[in-house]
Amino acid sequence: MSSRGPRTVVLPSAEKAAALVKQMRGEVDDNSNYRTKSLKIHGQVCAKCGREFDQASLNLLTVHHKDGNHHNNPPNGSNWENLCVHCHEDEHSRGVLGEYLSGG
Ligand SMILES: [Zn+2]
Ligand SMILES: [Zn+2]
Repeated sequence: MSSRGPRTVVLPSAEKAAALVKQMRGEVDDNSNYRTKSLKIHGQVCAKCGREFDQASLNLLTVHHKDGNHHNNPPNGSNWENLCVHCHEDEHSRGVLGEYLSGG
């Protein structure tokens, strides 16, 4: 029986802790997940031109953030709009989509 002394526990920041709690609840709101969720909530259809997408063409359907903030990802999808790449480009009208497609 060896008794260990108290170890220094590094507590996560409040922000990290909140993210962890969300993860455990399945409410991950990081950028890798919001697209899947938005497609589930809003359907695989462009909100602007109404084009429908299947698994083969789904990569052409992107998620637009209505307020322009990619970190604002409410679980109810209120900040998301599914737009095909053409409509999405149109929505931003200048080069922002390049940043979006590169994962920003
Ligand atoms: Zn469209
Ligand atoms: Zn957008």
